Amino acid sequence: MRDPYELLGVRRDATQEEIKAAFRRAAIKHHPDRNQGDPTAQARFAEVNRAYQILSDPGHRKNFDRFGTDPFERGGVSATGGIEDFVDLSNVDGVMGDILSAFGIKNPDRKKVEYRLELSFEEAALGTTREIRYARLEHCKTCGSSGAAPGTPMTSCRNCGGRGKVRSSQGLIPIPLDRPCPACFGRGKMAQTPCVSCRGKGLTKQTRTLEVSLPAGIEHGTARVVEGEGNRIKPGGTYTDLEIQVVVLPHDLFERDGDDVRCRVPISYVQAALGGEITVPTLAGKAKVRVPPTTQSGSVLRLRGQGINHRLRAGKGDQLIEVFVEVPVELSSRARELLVELGQELGENLQPQQRSFMEKLKGLFG
Ligand SMILES: [Zn+2]
Ligand SMILES: [Zn+2]
Repeated sequence: MRDPYELLGVRRDATQEEIKAAFRRAAIKHHPDRNQGDPTAQARFAEVNRAYQILSDPGHRKNFDRFGTDPFERGGVSATGGIEDFVDLSNVDGVMGDILSAFGIKNPDRKKVEYRLELSFEEAALGTTREIRYARLEHCKTCGSSGAAPGTPMTSCRNCGGRGKVRSSQGLIPIPLDRPCPACFGRGKMAQTPCVSCRGKGLTKQTRTLEVSLPAGIEHGTARVVEGEGNRIKPGGTYTDLEIQVVVLPHDLFERDGDDVRCRVPISYVQAALGGEITVPTLAGKAKVRVPPTTQSGSVLRLRGQGINHRLRAGKGDQLIEVFVEVPVELSSRARELLVELGQELGENLQPQQRSFMEKLKGLFG
C-alpha cells in the first residue's frame, strides 16, 4: 500500500477540510471517465479513494499514523479497487444501503462486520463454547433471490434500461458516476409479481445462530474470523467472513500476566511475622498456600501450574500471589498492650529493611 498522505499530496497534520479538498482534486484528475484509454486510471482512482477512506476516518487515520496499517487489507472489506469501491451511498436510506451492500456494492462509511463477544476472565482463561446470535440478510429461499414470485417472469428494468446502473452526479465528486439502479437493486431485471417472502428484494433478514469455541487462554482483543458467516453477500453470492472481536472483562481479583495469573492477597501482621497458611482463590477454585515466617509485604508467592495453558507447549503458567501486610485498624486494649510490649522487645533493633533505608538516607544527606 502506498502512503495515503503522499497519494493525496497532503501534510501529515492536514485538516479534514484539506484532505477532502485534496481528495476531490485527485479524484477528478484520476477518474477513469477523464482518462479514457488509460488502463491504469481505474487503479489510480481506486488508490486515491482508498487513501481518502483511511484519512477521512479518525480511527483509521490514527491506526495508520501509529502502525502504518491499512484497515481495508484484511477481513470483510474488499481492497480490489474496482470503480464500484467508490459508490457514494450517503443519500441512500438504511434498508437500501443494506441491500446494495448485500450485492457486494460497498458503502465506504460502513464498518467491517464485527461481533463483540464479551467473556469473563475465567471463560477466557479456561476456554469455552458460546452461542452467538446475529441478524443478517440471506438469499430468499422462496424465490431463489430473484425477487419474483415463483413461476412468474422477470422483465427488464425500466428505470435503468436493464443496465443495472444509473448515471448520477450526486455526492462528493462533481462528475457523473455510475451507481447501482435503486429500482432493481442493480440487477437490471424486475419481477412483475414480487415474491411475497422478500417483497421483491430477493433477500430476507434472518437470525443466525452460531456456536463458537474459544480456546483456553484466548486474549483480550483477539479477532476470530469465521469463514462465510458474515452478514454480507459477496458478488459471487457467497457470504463474507464474520469477524468476532473478543473482549475479556476485568476480574475483581485476578489479573493476567502472560500465562501467569496474578492476585493480591492481604495477610495479617502475625501471619507475616510467624508464617502460616492462607486460602487463596484460583482459576480452579481454592488452594492453600504456605506463608513462610518473616514474609515481607509485597512478597510474591508462586503456585505452580495454576495459571493459563501455554499456547505453544504443554503445561500451564503459574499463579502469582502478591501478599501485603495489613496493619490492624481496630485494636482491643489487650492487643494494644501486646503491641506495646512487642515494641519494647524489638526496641531499637533496626530490621534489615530499615537499616538499608537509614544507610541510603545517610548517603543522601552526607
Ligand atoms: Zn423472495
Ligand atoms: Zn434498474
